[in-house]
Amino acid sequence: MSSINTPVLTDTHCHLDFPDFEADRVDIIARAKQRGVTRMITISTRVRRFAQIAAIADSDPDIYCSVGTHPHQASEETDVTVEELIALSTHPKCVAIGEAGLDYHYDKAPRDLQNKSLRTHIEASRRTNLPLIIHSRSADEDMANLLEEEMGKGEFTAVMHCFSSSAELAKRSLALGFYLSFSGILTFKASTELRQIAKNTPADRLLVETDAPYLAPMPNRGKRNEPGFVADTAAVLADIKGVSVNEIARITTQNAERLFSKMGKQSTVLNTMQLTSAALLPPLSAHFLEIKGL
Ligand SMILES: [Zn+2]
Ligand SMILES: [Zn+2]
Repeated sequence: MSSINTPVLTDTHCHLDFPDFEADRVDIIARAKQRGVTRMITISTRVRRFAQIAAIADSDPDIYCSVGTHPHQASEETDVTVEELIALSTHPKCVAIGEAGLDYHYDKAPRDLQNKSLRTHIEASRRTNLPLIIHSRSADEDMANLLEEEMGKGEFTAVMHCFSSSAELAKRSLALGFYLSFSGILTFKASTELRQIAKNTPADRLLVETDAPYLAPMPNRGKRNEPGFVADTAAVLADIKGVSVNEIARITTQNAERLFSKMGKQSTVLNTMQLTSAALLPPLSAHFLEIKGL
């Protein structure tokens, strides 16, 4: 059990179904919990593999999942419909739609198919009221235009996962009410611009994630990533924001519970937040003001 002083974190984006974790998944989940990473959301990359993802979520009360087609797989799953996504999302542990998006860095699927798939996921997100997990790489202008156009057709909520794009895409995403999720990239020496974006992001829109098995934060850069390492990214984020690790844990957990509301709230987290909510007010207010300067 986490004590009142243990930072309680949620890894909002990992891939526990990947072969990298096949041999020691149970150990990795246990290690994460030891570091205070009490909840994990394992993210779908193929709708047709949802059963495997859901089985992992069902194996542990603190693991949740999503349903969606990664842009790399957009040409494999061209027949996925809004109705299919909605039907699968009714699984009790499924708390989000995605990940879907545009990846022009790898261009593994034709761009028109990535675009069509993303729009299908947006419609599923709208109709289920579940948040959309957006993957965006080297596609800033198309992504911002598409999201703004789609928001005009009807509201939905979303997170820009593993945010590593420009300040301009950050600004336009925040203006749509979206969250920005920071991964291990935040801890890399060369990520000066990204740290500035995190600094300018309002406290109530910040999330942390690993995207494990990829992108391990310092000091494990280059090794296989695992959910427990989200604590290292949270420590860097706390430093950027000028708050304690405990405060960053509380803020990002509260944000994760607001966005992924189907997860419900953890009672230990609630108690911690209730006891310290007064202490949280000054830094939060300061960060809310920062949005005007972004
Ligand atoms: Zn991604
Ligand atoms: Zn991912």
